[in-house]
Amino acid sequence: MTNGDLRLGRCGACGGGEVYRGEYVAQGGLRPAGAGAFGAKQAVFDAFVCAVCGHTQLHVRLDARMSSHIRGKLTWIPPQQGMG
Ligand SMILES: [Zn+2]
Repeated sequence: MTNGDLRLGRCGACGGGEVYRGEYVAQGGLRPAGAGAFGAKQAVFDAFVCAVCGHTQLHVRLDARMSSHIRGKLTWIPPQQGMG
């Protein structure tokens, strides 16, 4: 059993063991919902893809500028109680 994180090599959706790693370049950028191109910053993601069901997990490559973009522009979701 895993926590569903595809980086561990097991698909959290179908349970399969065929997870592959690649990269995904977001040409349209990472931006606030509804902001359009003006608020976008191009991002590169490490992509973990299940070859059985297609479930995909993305992790943006972080540096100081990307972290600042995320914290300053995107919508923060406060941690929910009772889900841990
Ligand atoms: Zn799968």
